[in-house]
Amino acid sequence: RRASFALSRDLPAETLDGVRVSLQINAGLLIDVPQLHEAGAEGIGLYRTEVPFMVREAFPDVGAQTQLYARILELAKDRPVTFRTLDIGGDKALPYWHSEVDENPIMGWRAIRIGLDRPALLSQQLRALVRAAAGRHLRVMFPMVSEVSEFVRARALLDREVERQVAAGGEPPARLQAGVMLEVPALVWQLPALFKRVDFISVGSNDLFQFLFATDRGNPRLARRYDVLSPPSLAFLRSVAGQAGAAGVPLSLCGEMAGHPLEAMALVGCGFRILSMPAAEIGPVRTTIRSLELAPLERLLDRLMEQPARSVREQLRAYARDRG
Ligand code: PEP
Ligand code: MG
Repeated sequence: RRASFALSRDLPAETLDGVRVSLQINAGLLIDVPQLHEAGAEGIGLYRTEVPFMVREAFPDVGAQTQLYARILELAKDRPVTFRTLDIGGDKALPYWHSEVDENPIMGWRAIRIGLDRPALLSQQLRALVRAAAGRHLRVMFPMVSEVSEFVRARALLDREVERQVAAGGEPPARLQAGVMLEVPALVWQLPALFKRVDFISVGSNDLFQFLFATDRGNPRLARRYDVLSPPSLAFLRSVAGQAGAAGVPLSLCGEMAGHPLEAMALVGCGFRILSMPAAEIGPVRTTIRSLELAPLERLLDRLMEQPARSVREQLRAYARDRG
């Protein structure tokens, strides 16, 4: 199987009825980046910038961050990299970052909430990204956004760093795109306003579903209790994909579910055309997509929306099995 994945590396992830899906990788360390080319992925859909912060003893300064981000862009060559700004707090505590003790850290002071309350910290990271991307394509994504105004404020900090770079005689990024992660359910009822502001959206299904089902993603007792392949989550995802499609805003999904072939199949059926996952999953997901026909899958999903939650995964699995 490994050999056949390697051979299929250069084939597009395209369904039998000609629908293209862009497969991208999730990364967090420099050594992950070359896997982008080895897997035949189209880009890095999620670069978790907090990972290098977690393995250090102190906050890296702007210079160190700039070097790191420049190296990532260099290694990615012509392929786009979506840098997610620091998602610290919650389940990703930094040993040297003394935040107050949150009773409920996952829903606490984390990610963009810290970034907006400590704008110097976020601005330093944005400055490093802007410097690293001089003359290149820069994509920045903000995590845990719950209100459009949070994106607006973060985007203003980003724009200010670009202006500073130009004022200092530096070269700005050749192209700048800013987006949000959709991982707080409240954002779904702000999509029309959000679409006017963002260049892209990426669903963070790991966090999104822990909030949607009120289920700690790290609790093994609950791991099998609710299924992402069930009517409430699929209806949710279909609705988001439909609205993004109608608005013409690029939408991806970068949570763990994108890397599981059955889930990836369902996501394509729900309307997702960009999936980002660990590099090792690209081959199996590509193979699945290449053996899929979209129209009957969409009809199946329509029918499954009326079914009891427990049976949906089984029926999707039977459907995939019948089609090789
Ligand atoms: C997610 O929440 O789905 C996600 C991709 O981000 P992380 O797993 O880093 O929270
Ligand atoms: Mg998340």
